[in-house]
Amino acid sequence: MKPAPFSYYRATSVEDAITALSGADGMAAVLAGGQSLVPMLNLRLSPVDHLIDLRAIAALSRQEETPEAICYGALTTHAAFEDGVVPDGTNGLMRYVASRIAYRAVRNRGTLGGALALADPAADWLTTAVALDASVTLTGPDGQRCLAITDFVVGPYYTQIAEHEIIDSIVVPRRSAAERWGYYKVAPKVGEYAKSLAIALIDHEKESARLVIGAWSDAPLVLEASASAFLEGAKKNDLAVIVQNELDLKMPSLSPAERRLHTSSAVRAAEQARS
Ligand SMILES: Cc1cc2nc3c(=O)[nH]c(=O)nc-3n(C[C@H](O)[C@H](O)[C@H](O)COP(=O)(O)OP(=O)(O)OC[C@H]3O[C@@H](n4cnc5c(N)ncnc54)[C@H](O)[C@@H]3O)c2cc1C
Repeated sequence: MKPAPFSYYRATSVEDAITALSGADGMAAVLAGGQSLVPMLNLRLSPVDHLIDLRAIAALSRQEETPEAICYGALTTHAAFEDGVVPDGTNGLMRYVASRIAYRAVRNRGTLGGALALADPAADWLTTAVALDASVTLTGPDGQRCLAITDFVVGPYYTQIAEHEIIDSIVVPRRSAAERWGYYKVAPKVGEYAKSLAIALIDHEKESARLVIGAWSDAPLVLEASASAFLEGAKKNDLAVIVQNELDLKMPSLSPAERRLHTSSAVRAAEQARS
């Protein structure tokens, strides 16, 4: 199928994009990598009258480093992470995650900002951003605001991006060198969207641990009780029971098979982080 007709505008700056969005008569959407939006347009799943292309905006491809965090412009591609051409403060976790997204042609064009804006529950970056306590900076007609990723994501395909706002950048706090991570993705084939996704982080020096489950029917879930047990060194089978109990409590709608799948992902991610 071909997309329904729309106007196309190539924005030259963030301000230009916001002005174009604000002035659009009808439904407007911004284009980043186009890896999700273009198929949706072709299938006519997304009614768009005006397409505003962000790709010529150099500021959205920037990276800025501070001692505490790294700020990635929204247009930073999956491939840039995979190739290690952008700074990494996560001991290689972001690089590894990027390399597991889709296949290279998608990674060449797909962007961090586009993936978070879409908020597909099965997307790799969403769960990763929650695990890493990232925050999202939005720019709109009234200026900028910064939201913690857990406030930014409201639910599946639903974020706090207001009308006429775009994601400017994503700030990822630097992790300590002592932290270890585990990432476990269950997908029908390598590079496909996850059926289950878990990320585990553990830092014995700071006595902190984090366990996050993604790719279920809602926004990524932070498992606090399981993370405490993980930090305290719960053995594999004991951790599985604790994870399962926490999932029962927080995700009562899961089928037994789904609960088992997510439990297994969480435990495997934890085991990887420990090894
Ligand atoms: C075959 C295939 C397999 C895939 N497999 C995976 C996978 O395994 N894991 C995974 O995580 N992803 C996967 N993806 C998705 C891929 O990562 C996309 O690149 C990503 O979801 C969207 O990023 P994009 O830059 O292409 O955004 P686009 O497609 O350009 O835009 C997506 C949406 O975000 C909006 N948007 C984009 N940028 C901004 C911004 N800066 N501010 C506000 N709104 C914005 C657009 O208006 C649109 O609504 C796959 C895609 C394909 C085609």
